[in-house]
Amino acid sequence: ERERLNRLIHTPAVTLDGQEIELLANIEVPSDATAARNVGAMGVGLFRSEFLFMGRGGDLPSEDEQYESYRLAVQNMNGRPVTIRTVDVGADKPLDGHKSDQLNPALGLRAIRWSLSEPSMFLAQLRAILRAAAHGPVHLLLPMLGSVKEAKQALGFIERARQELQARDVAHGAVQVGAMIEVPGAALMAREFAQLFDFLSIGTNDLIQYTLAIDRADEAVAHLYDPLHPAVLRLVETTIREGRAAGKPVTVCGEMAGDPSMTRLLLGLGLRSFSMHPTRILPIKKEVLQSDTHKLAPWANALLRSDDVQAAMDHAPGG
Ligand code: PEP
Ligand code: MG
Repeated sequence: ERERLNRLIHTPAVTLDGQEIELLANIEVPSDATAARNVGAMGVGLFRSEFLFMGRGGDLPSEDEQYESYRLAVQNMNGRPVTIRTVDVGADKPLDGHKSDQLNPALGLRAIRWSLSEPSMFLAQLRAILRAAAHGPVHLLLPMLGSVKEAKQALGFIERARQELQARDVAHGAVQVGAMIEVPGAALMAREFAQLFDFLSIGTNDLIQYTLAIDRADEAVAHLYDPLHPAVLRLVETTIREGRAAGKPVTVCGEMAGDPSMTRLLLGLGLRSFSMHPTRILPIKKEVLQSDTHKLAPWANALLRSDDVQAAMDHAPGG
């Protein structure tokens, strides 16, 4: 089976009805980019930069250290785009020395909220990312945005970082800027977000957690964590539809994107870009090659209104 999958490495990810599907990799350290390339990933859809920040006793990585790491990932991808997400610490990814006495850390000062509260840290990371963009295509992704106001604030910081580099005459490049859609409030504002950003990326791990009020790290409620809950699927569908209507690419970069049992549903909902752990790329490509989006679209849309989603899943149209 593994050998059969390996034969797909150089096969383009195109559906039976000719839709080209983008299959991207999620990485955590620059060397993961090699694994991504080896399975034929078309780029990196999510570089979780927090791994540079963790396990170092609360000491923050300098701009230069970050720049080296991002540049390495960009160079390892050989001209294919690398999506670098700004630091997403807090909740299940605590920073050493960062106060973690919050009652509800998942609802606390995490991800973009922490970045916006630490301007010098945030600007240093943004400068490092913009500098890496001088070496190849870079997309910059902002985690856990909750409102348009917060989105505009973050965009203001990116502009400021660019001006600082310009003033210092430091080499840097242009970046596409995207928003993670992983808070239900942001998914419901997908139209406005699609106007503000170059692309959207749906973080289903957190979107499920926040939509269903299920702590993704709490074993006691793990049985309630349901990617197929109609409320989750409707938020995913809304985001894909609004993004496409605005002509902006939409990716799913949560675990759902790497689960072959979800591929047909996501294709049917209009998704054309998936980002996942490198080991998932070939199994997902196999699904893509056997799918027909024309048949999947009406089925997926009916499924959103079905009173038995699981039963509907068992009747996905084949190729
Ligand atoms: C997500 O929430 O789906 C996501 C991709 O981000 P993370 O798992 O790093 O929170
Ligand atoms: Mg997330």
